[in-house]
Amino acid sequence: MTDDLYRELILDHFRNPRNKGALANPDVKVQGTNLLCGDNIELTFLVRGGKIEDIKMDSTGCSISQSSASMMTQALKGKSLTESAALTAAFKKMLLENGSADNLPEDLEELASLEGVRKYPVRVKCALLSWNTFLQGLKDFEAKADAPKK
Ligand code: ZN
Repeated sequence: MTDDLYRELILDHFRNPRNKGALANPDVKVQGTNLLCGDNIELTFLVRGGKIEDIKMDSTGCSISQSSASMMTQALKGKSLTESAALTAAFKKMLLENGSADNLPEDLEELASLEGVRKYPVRVKCALLSWNTFLQGLKDFEAKADAPKK
């Protein structure tokens, strides 16, 4: 895809965010903030049978943070917790370690549109906010699952 198509894709997710809102009875509810830019996100998700059965995000902030959050919910829905963690790692690697979009699963080519963000270090935090928030949510979920039941 060309840079123009990528830009279009990012704007499309910004203008028409997917999975926007909050789930009524989520297993996990987690918030994240990027003080540098003023981006905020709240994620809610449901875990059933080791999979992300449903996920919603409510975000405010710049176009990069919001489109990244929108793409993320699409990418994670239906994935197992293990796959989700691996995908998050691949995405972070693409932006933080000069990894390439080639390491992303093929069905998630949309996420590659954010690869260009790497050129703008300040924006990297925007693109990663939703993913780091999701990782925190996974941690919370695992801690809850490991806690002794009464
Ligand atoms: Zn931002």
